[in-house]
Amino acid sequence: MLQEYTREYAMRLDQDDALSSFRSAYHFPHHEGRPVLYFTGNSLGLQPLHTAKYVQQALDDWARLGVEGHFRASHPWYSYHEILTESSARVVGARSSEVVVMNQLTVNLHLLLVSFYRPQGKRRKILFEHKPFPSDHYAFESQARLHGLDPSDVLVEMKPRQGEWTLRTEDVVARIAELGDELACVCFGAVQYFTGQFFDIPAITAAAHAAGATCGFDLAHAAGNTPLSLHDDGVDFACWCSYKYLNSGPGGVAGAFVHERHHRDRTLVRLAGWWGHNKETRFRMEQGFDPITSAEGWQLSNAPVLSMAAHRAALDLFDRAGMERLRAKSVRLTAYLEFVLYEVKAATGVDLQIITPAEAEARGCQLSVVVPGSDRTLVTRLAAEGVVVDWREPHVIRMAPVPMYNSFEDVISFGQILTRIL
Ligand SMILES: *Cc1c(COP(=O)(O)O)cnc(C)c1O
Repeated sequence: MLQEYTREYAMRLDQDDALSSFRSAYHFPHHEGRPVLYFTGNSLGLQPLHTAKYVQQALDDWARLGVEGHFRASHPWYSYHEILTESSARVVGARSSEVVVMNQLTVNLHLLLVSFYRPQGKRRKILFEHKPFPSDHYAFESQARLHGLDPSDVLVEMKPRQGEWTLRTEDVVARIAELGDELACVCFGAVQYFTGQFFDIPAITAAAHAAGATCGFDLAHAAGNTPLSLHDDGVDFACWCSYKYLNSGPGGVAGAFVHERHHRDRTLVRLAGWWGHNKETRFRMEQGFDPITSAEGWQLSNAPVLSMAAHRAALDLFDRAGMERLRAKSVRLTAYLEFVLYEVKAATGVDLQIITPAEAEARGCQLSVVVPGSDRTLVTRLAAEGVVVDWREPHVIRMAPVPMYNSFEDVISFGQILTRIL
């Protein structure tokens, strides 16, 4: 597509954008009386206008009904998590029995690893991508220790080739085959938080299974961002947070996926709690854990309703926009940002390098850009002009034009400001 580096062109793209009205459904922070150019939806998504109403409703029900709210609230608390299942399943490409909203991301990662990282005999290794998010790395290390293993013996990090930032699928697949019967589990961030690379989930899952290992994904940067089909791809387990692309508020309730082929497997080890117990008999308060035969069987505790109310408000907007339309816009919006960055590079002579893959299938909306010679003050100078992006060592800014609420005009405004600053 031939692109133009003009505001008129960007405004025309916004006019043709069927999703442009969703922008007005969100609160934007302000800088000097004007909405900021917000490109950090990959870190904390914006608040939908109607979130306050949903949360207020839960508070009102509590005030009005007390304990009766468990069954008589406008959305009964007892089963509140169930209202979120269908929408969440659409976001991650799962059957509704395979998805549950519960806890927080790292908690869910641990719960799932307890079931799906089962080192035995020679098969003890866990493979993950280069420089995973630290929380995931801590989880892998502590899971190894939980099994009495030395993390340095069993944690295997998949490094890129010399001089490259991202991983090649053929290298990942080859590494999995090479580890073979020493491999217990493969667990990747589906979209790498630093580089923005979207991994080939079907290829990695198939390779892991061929090696006799389980395969799971941390969808923190993928849920609500990239197309996912966890069920069809045969992924064993996955978890995600709701506060990044899913706009459900700081520390919001998270999600988990367990493929249906595992739901009736009573030999799977798991950490149990009363909310994972058979709903028919849960309130008999008896001993003898009888897990629900769906992803809900991994639940521990009753639903955090206030946080789930915010999640429901956010998911309603995903149902209205639809992942397919969001993805279609996302591909165009990110390609436009890429084009604008090359214009900035040409105009300033600063040798910007986009480390996120150039192919749409290998990325979501985030672009990570090396700005040679820059430091953290670049982000401060951008902030002083009302632009919010984030910074990671060494010299990398990450920015995500989010299809739900960012516009093409945001992107051109960003390009002009960055040119001036550089
Ligand atoms: C954001 C993020 C986390 C954060 O974990 P919480 O448990 O939600 O605090 C963990 N892993 C990845 C890959 C992330 O991107």
